[in-house]
Amino acid sequence: MSDLVPLEEAQALVIGRCARLDPRAVPLADALGCVLAAPVVARTDVPPFANSAMDGYALHAADTQDAPVTLTVVETIAAGARPTSTVQPGQAARIMTGAPMPDGADAIVMVELTSGTPTSDTVTVNEAVPVGNHVRGAGDDMAAGDEVFDAGTVLTPGHVGVLASLGVEAPTAWPRARVGVLSTGDELVNGEINDSNRPALLAACAASGFEPVDLGVVGDDGDALAKAIEEGVATTDALLTTGGVSAGDFDFVKRILDTQLQVAIRPAKPLAFGLVDGTPVFGLPGNPVSSMVSFELFARPAIRRMMGFADGDLHRPRLTAVADEDMTRRPDGKTHFIRVTARYDDGEGRWHVKRAGGQGSHQLLALARADALAIVPDGPGVSAGGSVTVMVL
Ligand code: AMP
Ligand code: MG
Repeated sequence: MSDLVPLEEAQALVIGRCARLDPRAVPLADALGCVLAAPVVARTDVPPFANSAMDGYALHAADTQDAPVTLTVVETIAAGARPTSTVQPGQAARIMTGAPMPDGADAIVMVELTSGTPTSDTVTVNEAVPVGNHVRGAGDDMAAGDEVFDAGTVLTPGHVGVLASLGVEAPTAWPRARVGVLSTGDELVNGEINDSNRPALLAACAASGFEPVDLGVVGDDGDALAKAIEEGVATTDALLTTGGVSAGDFDFVKRILDTQLQVAIRPAKPLAFGLVDGTPVFGLPGNPVSSMVSFELFARPAIRRMMGFADGDLHRPRLTAVADEDMTRRPDGKTHFIRVTARYDDGEGRWHVKRAGGQGSHQLLALARADALAIVPDGPGVSAGGSVTVMVL
């Protein structure tokens, strides 16, 4: 067991060899989840002009101080229209939400505080309002010259909205990594076993914000495998293979990649890794659960690093939960990852977890049903009611 590499050491070794991609202009429509590589500075005011926050009347606040008061309506200003007249004392302009403030007016009275009809030439204002009432000033949200986002910001839908409102069409960001997925195994080629790893990993890549590239299946043939890997790295930023990294006679992937590790974890103990023509290649194990857990622990954080995520933001979030059943185990030098379902107890204010099903490395169903992995360190494990750290999937 002395050849087992601690998880953190194996992660550092692999992640450290995955260099960041070159930032570029990423079209806004594809920028969700990407990391900004340069700060964003507002080039214009948002909103670009003072406008009304309400459907109502633009007027002089001073005219309303002795409300009720009747004013002459000089025009109607729709959103998207330009005012044509200056509002004088004693006058008002009917105005819609978002329409530009007419010159002269310094306040809005919402339509609910007036009497009159939309077509009449006068309006009666029933309440006094202060200067600036319901007026959105130019630059109220963002002013030209403001630095609105730092480099390193991970773009959410809110950020995408702000960038669009500033007219930024392609922010400077790290691009989505193109990640190839290649399954290996004669049993898959012959159709004896359905290839589940490739679709699952392609989906995992998509769910992680990577660009998945399906590279198909290759048999347990050293030359064919070497060729498939070489062709794969020519068109991708990173490559995932599954299978062929154990101690079997036909495990060829590990002979192609320069680093073979036995990581002190269960499942997903074997891992091969190497740079092929400068592209990181992750030789994930073939067992279906192992390949996904290995993706979570090694490939996903490493590829996030390539996409510019900060070192503190590479891994899944963790939380502490109550084990609702025994998660006891025998000491074996390994950290165990148990597929669990998590439930938040509102009254207690704590998370609870229990097994999502069978825990064999071939039993993919429990992984599909799980929403977290409980991390049970080497030792006797955790008894029901004890607390356990979980990694949220
Ligand atoms: P290996 O690591 O190649 O020895 O594979 C370990 C186990 O995982 C074997 O039972 C394989 O049949 C199975 N396996 C390998 N690759 C896949 C795959 N892509 N989809 C489903 N099962 C697989
Ligand atoms: Mg195999």
